Amino acid sequence: MKKHNFSAGPCILPQSVMQKASDAVINFNDLNLSLIEISHRSNDFVEVMENARSLSLELLGLKDKGYKSLFLQGGASMEFLMVAFNLLENKAAYLNTGTWSSKAIKEAKLLGELVEVGSSKDKNFNYIPKGYTIPSDADYFHCTSNNTIFGTQINEFPITEVPIVCDMSSDIFSRQLDFSRFDIIYAGAQKNMGPAGTTLVIIKEDILGKVSRTIPSMLDYQVHLSKDSMFNTPAVFPVYVSMLTLEWLKNLGGISEIEKINNKKAEILYSEIDRNPLFTGFVSDKENRSKMNATFNLVDNSLSNRFDQLWNEAGINGLSGHRSVGGYRASMYNALPLESVNILVDVMKNLEQKA
Ligand SMILES: *Cc1c(COP(=O)(O)O)cnc(C)c1O
Repeated sequence: MKKHNFSAGPCILPQSVMQKASDAVINFNDLNLSLIEISHRSNDFVEVMENARSLSLELLGLKDKGYKSLFLQGGASMEFLMVAFNLLENKAAYLNTGTWSSKAIKEAKLLGELVEVGSSKDKNFNYIPKGYTIPSDADYFHCTSNNTIFGTQINEFPITEVPIVCDMSSDIFSRQLDFSRFDIIYAGAQKNMGPAGTTLVIIKEDILGKVSRTIPSMLDYQVHLSKDSMFNTPAVFPVYVSMLTLEWLKNLGGISEIEKINNKKAEILYSEIDRNPLFTGFVSDKENRSKMNATFNLVDNSLSNRFDQLWNEAGINGLSGHRSVGGYRASMYNALPLESVNILVDVMKNLEQKA
């Protein structure tokens, strides 16, 4: 039986997607060839790429609104650099809410002036800073919508005239937002969309072409757009699996439907964290608890061996917290069934009864 997979990334994908993907590795589209042994310029693969690009815009409600999508390589980490290469001329404003924001800041600093408008570093990133000001002359404002490691999530994005760039690697397609408020959205595939190896980048086209520097071709969004995301050989398998996941989500009813399930999963787990005297949540402000990655600790660490044994026996995988937080992290991405959350809650209750 498949394990209850709470892994933070790479992570769980829908079982039906996995089945179709493995079939395509053997025989794709009845071509009697594998998906990974045909040309990326073949009609069959070009259709996959176009489908994936179009579905991503459709699900985010960004079709015919001046946006284009790309499937690039180098992970979300490459976007830390690409965003700055393509947008940073005078100065950029960054909100620092965790490890990934800090890394984005480090890269952008290589290319220009950077203002850290807010940071939650003082409390090991267990909250989302509020009441910060974005300088009106910034080229863009960058934030991380969901902090995968610390388990915080932004619910309210600032109202500003400055273009907004958002790293949505770990909560894209999980909740409804007004995505048209963002000028660039990027997300590594391996948290909610597909295997590691491709990064979805959504770009409002009119934001580009404003910097004076020469941009290396592979880092230039305009180059990738002009080649329909095929400037070089794309990561064919990760793009294909991402397309299958996006089709799966569309058939389910889209983001608004998956959001209802995600809300329910988060509600069930956080209620238990709050109710069970053996556990405590890591995030200080409850309204910014992540619905994707719930971080929590045992009040008494001497129970950890017992707890670890119980969840392992229940067929749970990937519950250990990130080394910079400790404790536990339950990642509840789109494909994680509600049943898996119920099993985890049962284990937590079980520990309480036996303690
Ligand atoms: C995982 C993650 C990253 C890093 O992604 P890579 O694809 O490994 O570069 C960046 N940002 C966030 C929010 C993440 O969760």
